[in-house]
Amino acid sequence: MFFVTFMVEIMKKQLHFLIPFFAALLCFPAFSQVEPGSGVLHCAAKGGCRHGFIHKNSEKKLFSYDVTYIRFNLNIDPAQPEISGSVLTRFEVSGDLSQGLEMELSTAFTIDSIVYKGLRVTYSHSGDYNLIVNLPPSQIPGTIGELEVFYHGIPLDGGGFGSVGRAQHNNVWAMWTLSEPYGSRDWWPGKNDLTDKADSIDIFVRSPELYRTASNGLLISDDVTEGYRTCHWKHKFPIVPYLIAVAVTNYEVYSEMSYSAGVPVEILNYVYPENKAAIMQQTAQTAMIMELFSELFTPYPFIGEKYGHAQFGWGGGMEHQTMSFMGRFDFEIIAHELAHQWFGNAVTLNSWQDIWLNEGFATYLAGMSYQHFFDGYWWPRWKTLSIGFVTSEPGGKVFVEDTTSVERIFSPRLSYYKGALLLHMLRWTMGDDAFFTACRNYLNDSRLNYGFAGTSDLKYHLEAVHGKDLTGFFEDWYYGEGFPSYHVKCNQLASNDYRINITQAQSHPSVSFFEMPVAVKFKGADRDTTIVFDHFLNDQSWIIYPGFKIDSIFIDPDQWLVSANNTYELINKSGDVDLYPNPSSSQMRLILSVEPESVKVFDLAGREVSVNFIYEGSGVTVDVGLLRQGYYFIRYVVEGQTGIVKFIKN
Ligand SMILES: [Zn+2]
Repeated sequence: MFFVTFMVEIMKKQLHFLIPFFAALLCFPAFSQVEPGSGVLHCAAKGGCRHGFIHKNSEKKLFSYDVTYIRFNLNIDPAQPEISGSVLTRFEVSGDLSQGLEMELSTAFTIDSIVYKGLRVTYSHSGDYNLIVNLPPSQIPGTIGELEVFYHGIPLDGGGFGSVGRAQHNNVWAMWTLSEPYGSRDWWPGKNDLTDKADSIDIFVRSPELYRTASNGLLISDDVTEGYRTCHWKHKFPIVPYLIAVAVTNYEVYSEMSYSAGVPVEILNYVYPENKAAIMQQTAQTAMIMELFSELFTPYPFIGEKYGHAQFGWGGGMEHQTMSFMGRFDFEIIAHELAHQWFGNAVTLNSWQDIWLNEGFATYLAGMSYQHFFDGYWWPRWKTLSIGFVTSEPGGKVFVEDTTSVERIFSPRLSYYKGALLLHMLRWTMGDDAFFTACRNYLNDSRLNYGFAGTSDLKYHLEAVHGKDLTGFFEDWYYGEGFPSYHVKCNQLASNDYRINITQAQSHPSVSFFEMPVAVKFKGADRDTTIVFDHFLNDQSWIIYPGFKIDSIFIDPDQWLVSANNTYELINKSGDVDLYPNPSSSQMRLILSVEPESVKVFDLAGREVSVNFIYEGSGVTVDVGLLRQGYYFIRYVVEGQTGIVKFIKN
């Protein structure tokens, strides 16, 4: 799911940065619409989303059956608010059904009858959603049952993002469903939760002839009889309730061809006739993104069916399985919804607490689409805006504690962008090969593929390839809050020798230290070098020999880290001798810009002691490892001048 209001504030802040690039935009004739976070401001434009609290957290329900198949027979006339029809559920008994079989359906609907294996059965329908169906006794585990609920009514505006929407475009009505996260019960009776996928579904929608229905899977038939059109869609892959959807209006249909790992995949588009010409230009970008994701990860998960877009009247996008519903068609949203077909649909989160597995991946894959197709301007800009957005507040964790708050589940800053940047930082920490291998292993894991996964499943695959424990990373970045601000001190010891010291402050007390590799770019008059420091201690120091005089410093120049307010100090000194480390137990560096004529070491009594030394870089490395503990002097001669430095051997 994708909706946009959050980037606006960031964009305002960045306006000074954007203006010079308007000229650059003109250089993208075919893709000038790729601006991230641009377009419809759904929530702002329509007076606020219903990001309310839902009635209860349905994740906690205990069901005693597994759904194997669902068949929808619906009558939808978008010009009328009422829907009617039946939903048949085939299931296998997995527990005790003596107290009835639990389903959910909004009590805004009237149930006409419920039929179990050809016989009417009794039921109770109460509260907001509770539907308990009384089955004949002897429902032992393993029994296959089939019941069909006949119902009609006017759907309420549910929680979340609306569940069922209806609006006019160009004086024609459209009706669509939008169930994520809990809204399927606002339009059909079923097992509304995240623990069970139906193995396949059939969807029949009957409407006045003017209208066509877009839905999951393949269009099997589109028949018109006596002024009514019935569209039959069939989907043969496992699917979770929130990804089942229908959209009905006077669609025009066109298709494009893409290839996933060499296999053709149809991109089927259902759009409003008045927008078709403009949208065709934009959906043309889908094919190359499909190819990219297939190459980086695995082939399209629903090969043999199709991928598609159906235009709808909500301002964002929603990744319904094999048919994303789209309020806009810019590059970023096309990439985001397509990415969900792998991350969210083929592998579905097993709790809304782990929503970042859906939204973090989809957001990051849209960012990576910029990297692959529009690096140079759009990819760095995506990183700048994303890091700026995440660090615009000092706290907030990616892990969702309160799954009753739809607003929190779909927090753009935490679930989408901080989630995306967690993946970005894992990629930085592990390297591209290991990161992408681990992602492929996660998608290909037979326990997860076409099933469900949690954060621990992803962590398992990342660690298996990385070969290192990532518990600390997840403690800091997933359960912890905030981000580091780095301070890099760069002290010149001699002409080309520097002591680097890195400290970090944390924006939130939940994390005491973020252990991360930190890249620092050192720039001189005509050269630069980037060094990655393994920052595992605060106030940690290193000596570097860049081979040139540093005049400026860039912390995390390629924007791999979630950090903000970074500062540096560059202290250049003039010609003084320096000896470090002092005290020392083994090797020391005597910094000299010119090779000395002699170097000798004396003890406090003035007796010369024997040491090995070598002139290299911009100084002398002296090995004092064999000396006894105590005070000593180094006496050196440079260009006829003698210098003396005292040191301690410990
Ligand atoms: Zn999404």
